[in-house]
Amino acid sequence: MNDTSYRVNHPLRQRALQVLRVTDLTPRMRRITLGGAALEGFTSLGSDDHVKLLFAADAQQQAALEAGEMSRDASARPVMREYTPRRIDLGALELDIDFVLHGDGPASTWAAQAAVGQTLHIAGPRASLVVTDAFDSYLLIGDETAIPAIARRLQELPAGRRAVVLIQVEDAREQQPLASDAEVEVTWVLRHEDDLLEQVRRLSLPAGSLYSWVALEKRLSRDIKGLLLEKGVAEQALKAVAYWRADDTPDED
Ligand SMILES: Cc1cc2nc3c(=O)[nH]c(=O)nc-3n(C[C@H](O)[C@H](O)[C@H](O)COP(=O)(O)OP(=O)(O)OC[C@H]3O[C@@H](n4cnc5c(N)ncnc54)[C@H](O)[C@@H]3O)c2cc1C
Repeated sequence: MNDTSYRVNHPLRQRALQVLRVTDLTPRMRRITLGGAALEGFTSLGSDDHVKLLFAADAQQQAALEAGEMSRDASARPVMREYTPRRIDLGALELDIDFVLHGDGPASTWAAQAAVGQTLHIAGPRASLVVTDAFDSYLLIGDETAIPAIARRLQELPAGRRAVVLIQVEDAREQQPLASDAEVEVTWVLRHEDDLLEQVRRLSLPAGSLYSWVALEKRLSRDIKGLLLEKGVAEQALKAVAYWRADDTPDED
């Protein structure tokens, strides 16, 4: 733990939740509201926390999921995908998860067909990294998959803080309203028209202490991290992560 961030571990728990609502936020972003008594005690303290969504590939895995068991044999475990708890309301026992409908893939395919009454099994969060609001400014760079975490961070920031946000989206219809008490400057970067790397190259970094957070496709995240370090961003206050991997991005990239 230090002055600006700390980690909190949570007991790992698997939960079976029911789909309560399905809401299309944009053509490519679908909000699934999950609920049920199993949500009691759910804790997510960090804006970029993640839960694992569990999808059974066969009847044996489905039976294990329903029994709440995690097999010791890795090959018998369900497919897992990481998602951000976008909104938690423990009073109403509701959890929103926003899914990018990107096409094939167990999570995206499930979200595309989700209907009220279905069950989704989740595990976690295992831990939260809490980054305090002690910085003067926050630089947040992501794509659609990072919007839930960026929206949470902006919601948590108090008045008097500044946030510079760059979000790469498929097209202008993917822009979402982002609420915050902080002074926020958002640039929507259209994937097929604008160059995110060039936008970051041209960015003037805000004065004062800065926390930088990047979540994108693996190779792009790595390239943006490199650019930010070249621009003089402090590495100890920079988190750059891969939120997904394109098929042509090698493992070592
Ligand atoms: C900590 C963390 C939090 C995340 N939070 C969210 C969240 O809240 N909402 C969200 O939508 N995603 C989120 N993601 C990203 C999500 O986990 C990935 O996009 C995941 O790969 C989707 O799984 P899938 O089963 O749909 O596709 P996969 O089986 O993983 O991939 C199938 C194919 O789809 C491609 N693909 C995967 N994701 C995308 C994409 N976004 N755009 C285009 N092609 C893609 C892959 O390259 C592959 O070719 C998060 C990731 C991390 C690490």
